[in-house]
Parts: sequence; C-alpha cells; structure tokens
Amino acid sequence: MTRLILATRNAGKITELKAILAEAGLPHDLVGAEAYPDVPDVKETGVTFAENALLKAHALAQATGHPAIADDSGLCVDVLGGAPGIFSARWSGTHGDDRANLDLLLAQLADIAPEYRSAHFACAAALALPDGTETVVEGRMPGILRHEPSGTNGFGYDPILQPNGETRTCAELSPAEKNAISHRGKAFRALVPAISELAG
Ligand code: IMP
Repeated sequence: MTRLILATRNAGKITELKAILAEAGLPHDLVGAEAYPDVPDVKETGVTFAENALLKAHALAQATGHPAIADDSGLCVDVLGGAPGIFSARWSGTHGDDRANLDLLLAQLADIAPEYRSAHFACAAALALPDGTETVVEGRMPGILRHEPSGTNGFGYDPILQPNGETRTCAELSPAEKNAISHRGKAFRALVPAISELAG
C-alpha cells in the first residue's frame, strides 16, 4: 500500500482526508507530518494558496521519499479585494490568534451593509511525488459575513461565515455538515483521482 504523507499536525485534517479516501474506496496508509519530526516546517513564501500548498507538498515528498499532500487555505472578502487571503492566519499581526483575527476583520467591516458582505473560504490542495510530479486543485465555500460571531464549532473565521443556502454559520454546523460543503472537503475530494492513480 502506498504511504501518503499529509503536511499538517492538525488531527482534524487527517481525519477528514482519511474519511474522503475511505469514501472513495481507496486503500491508504495516510500519516501526518508529525511521523517525520526531523523534517523542518516549510516557509510559506508563495503569494497564492496553490503556491503555498505546492511548496509544502514538494518539501515533504522530497524529504520523506513518499507522495505528500498539503493544503493552504484562507478567507477572501470581496469588499477587501480578496483579503485577508493568504494572510488569514496572521491578519491581526499574531500568527494563529483566531479571536484577534476575527475581531479585527469584524471591526474593519463594521459599517459594511449585508449586501456587500460576500466572502468565500478557499483551499488549494496539492499532491507532490518524490520525482517532482505535481497536481494542485482548489475548492471554495461562498457565503456572507455576519456582523456578530455565532456558534462554537470549528476554528478561525467559522463563527462569522454563513455559507450560501444556510441559515447557520460554519461554527453552528456539525463537522460532517461542514466537510460536505467546505472548501477543504471540495479540494481534497478533487484530489482523489490523482491519488487513485498512485494506488495503481
Ligand atoms: P490553514 O491553511 O489551514 O493554515 O488556514 C489558514 C487560516 O485561514 C486559518 O488560520 C484560518 O484563519 C483561516 N481558515 C482556513 N480554513 C478555515 C475554515 O475552514 N474555517 C475558518 N477559518 C479558516
């Protein structure tokens, strides 16, 4: 069975990708990057989600000698010209401070009316092989931004994005409900054909 490495230390992402591979009937030996503690984290120097996902996937494939998958994602707000985009995790200046990032964004959009509050989560998922072959795909979840956070599930900007066709925010959806429509779920599912070619 081909070993696949997922460039993340986030257990939730590993569970999500395992479920997608199982759903597709693909045999898999999927492990997270923590199985290779000597491989250093890659600097995300790309300027698009796809570039950053490819950087991470290639680095891990080269370092481990196994096919590697990486994703990069963020929130793109139309009235901000697509920001925070690749800066989503560090919008407030502190990397990974979800609450500060969300509070700053809400403050910036305080005077923006509902009809101009459209946004989408975007995710690029990349598969890289040790020989340098690559595949990259993207998924999106469009919605509108609430004025106030609501819900306790998920992470990041989930409490303020209400997906189109929903009355709840992402943070009010169950993990399964979110995965079914999420940018990451869509991107990982779009990668399945390339992964199934590996299994031969
Ligand atoms: P990463 O690519 O998974 O590291 O995500 C980058 C940043 O984008 C996160 O820190 C969040 O701020 C935001 N983000 C990406 N995906 C989601 C999501 O599904 N919900 C909420 N925020 C997200």
